[in-house]
Amino acid sequence: MSARKVSHILKLSAAEQREFVNSFDVVLCDCDGVLWMVSSPLPRTGEAVNALKDDGKQVRFVSNNSLRLDEEYVNKFTRIGVKDFQANDIMHPAKSMLYYMKKHNIKQPVFSLCSGHGNETLRHGGVDVRTLVTKEDVEIATLDKITRPEQKMGAVLYDINLNLTYAQIAAATRYLADKDCHFIAGGTDWLLPIKADLTLPGFCDFLDTIKRFSGREPTIVSKPAVLLGEILKDIYKLADPKRCLFVGDSLTHDVRFGLNCGFQTLLVLSGSTPIEQMWQAKAEDQPHFYADSMADFIELYANISKNT
Ligand SMILES: [Mg+2]
Repeated sequence: MSARKVSHILKLSAAEQREFVNSFDVVLCDCDGVLWMVSSPLPRTGEAVNALKDDGKQVRFVSNNSLRLDEEYVNKFTRIGVKDFQANDIMHPAKSMLYYMKKHNIKQPVFSLCSGHGNETLRHGGVDVRTLVTKEDVEIATLDKITRPEQKMGAVLYDINLNLTYAQIAAATRYLADKDCHFIAGGTDWLLPIKADLTLPGFCDFLDTIKRFSGREPTIVSKPAVLLGEILKDIYKLADPKRCLFVGDSLTHDVRFGLNCGFQTLLVLSGSTPIEQMWQAKAEDQPHFYADSMADFIELYANISKNT
């Protein structure tokens, strides 16, 4: 059992609930497992986001999922009824990579292991993205030729990619033999929660294979890396981290990330973390608050207005 007392936001007194909502100006919110499951909806989450916006909160979204294009995100947010959503309101690893490459002036072509949509986002941002597409079966006899570096690359990029192949992983290790080639990665999740009753392996183990073999440590631009927090603070002009509330469904990626960045944290139980796991976690890994779901904000605001 932990030493930290984690309060459910709906079990706070009316005064504490008011104090809670007055303690932050910005809400940074994970998407999968919070606003929706990867392939199924969650009830009333758009309404909850609107309640926060109506209270004057700046609400931004921070996902480790670059598999969706901006227009798909816009459609998803529109479908759940979120008001005034702009594509710039969401950050995900492909966008963090763009930020990082611009900041570090990486202008050469990059070798990408990212998804097709991740690559499209990168290309849209002006990056010369090269990939390895194998049309025929890869054989031992052809592996050297297929994976041989074609030219010098500015970076190897790694992220969730449902079509990742062995040949692509092998080629990446060959590009990374060049110590001038940056190594930038998202895809650190070890679980891929698809729907309520189906979770599949994530992509961190493939990244570990590349790290181990190449002896290279990637620059991580996804949750829970502090670097992503620095990127968010810069692009969203977050002056005081303590006035930001990070909402997520993962202890290891959202809560850990929020704590690393000095944000307040709220764990929602609508996604990948059962409540027992939260209670079993060490006190320093627990969130400041928890809720059953994002939709609890609707009731929270109703309580506050009833008691005002
Ligand atoms: Mg999530």
